[in-house]
Amino acid sequence: MENPNFYPDINNNNDDAPPSYPDNPIQFDGYQNLGFCAPEPGNNQPFLQEKNNVLPIFNDNQILTEEDAEDALVAFVGEHCCYGKGPVKNLEITDLKPSNTYRYILESFTETRSTKYVSEPYFQQIIVNTGAPPPHPWSIPVTPNQLFIDQKVLLEIPNTAQVEICKKCSGRGNRTCYSCSGRGRKSCIHCHGSGHKHNSNHHHRENCFFCSGTGFSNCHTCGHTGFILCKICSGSGRLKWYLQLTVEFKNNKDDFFSKTEFIPDELLRNCLTKNTFSDTNLRLFPITNHPNKYINEASSSLLGQHYTKFNQCKILSQRHEVDSIPINLVTYNYKNKILNYIIYGLESRVYAPDYPQKCCCNIL
Ligand SMILES: [Zn+2]
Ligand SMILES: [Zn+2]
Ligand SMILES: [Zn+2]
Repeated sequence: MENPNFYPDINNNNDDAPPSYPDNPIQFDGYQNLGFCAPEPGNNQPFLQEKNNVLPIFNDNQILTEEDAEDALVAFVGEHCCYGKGPVKNLEITDLKPSNTYRYILESFTETRSTKYVSEPYFQQIIVNTGAPPPHPWSIPVTPNQLFIDQKVLLEIPNTAQVEICKKCSGRGNRTCYSCSGRGRKSCIHCHGSGHKHNSNHHHRENCFFCSGTGFSNCHTCGHTGFILCKICSGSGRLKWYLQLTVEFKNNKDDFFSKTEFIPDELLRNCLTKNTFSDTNLRLFPITNHPNKYINEASSSLLGQHYTKFNQCKILSQRHEVDSIPINLVTYNYKNKILNYIIYGLESRVYAPDYPQKCCCNIL
């Protein structure tokens, strides 16, 4: 039976969460507050002077004939096996209205920096610490591999390393096994520690087959030793602590559609478009001379939003573009009903939410 005088070490549970601070953190200049580091103020000022952005004159209406419009619908219905073919055969196109639709895209590529304490097992690796004060988080040179692509860089801040005894195991490198509380063996589950076969009578006691009559079985968690390796220090008993700098590069993208027809933005994001303008710079000035005034307004408003939204980041670069998307609204007559569908994108995709026979099950 279990020894009632054995008190398991209450610190030795199965909690392997590493501690987040050393016992005696060194107070470094400029690192009184860990976590998010705001960039120096004035980083994200927009350009004060208008950059002369010359745009080409647009006229990108895709001229479709009635035949083109019908072909597009036939192809669309063909892709949906349960759409009835009837309406395509019997429709009469009454109007075909092209429209200029534009997508304005703004991207701001930002950088944020933060610091925190991290630890790793200490196996006599070389500690570089000249004792000089560590550099300021924003003065450590880190550059992204590529602009407009999300990236994360982690690095050790120079002169912040120190070595401490591992608190979790008190420097032993191992901890009392949580499963057997350090005994190395556990009460046999088959005989409940009695050592006897369950139903044996009192005159002919038979030994428990599983524990050979001992009443105990070996603890598999610790391999019979009563100890398990400390996962925090990997058995080394010591930890190397240092301040870690996290640099995150993030591409923040927003867009706006100038559209006169009702069609979901998501469809327009995924069709082929024609790029008509693009510009990349440290800071962008809003487009002011696009023939569609909503594009000019969107450019100004999205740029303003980005300067506000990312004022706690450093904006490294900005890019914006205007894409032209051909859209044609087709009106047709089917069984004396006036219906519409939209042909969009350079590849002439069809959006037909009110197509009369969307499922063969409806044809009764
Ligand atoms: Zn054990
Ligand atoms: Zn047993
Ligand atoms: Zn440890």
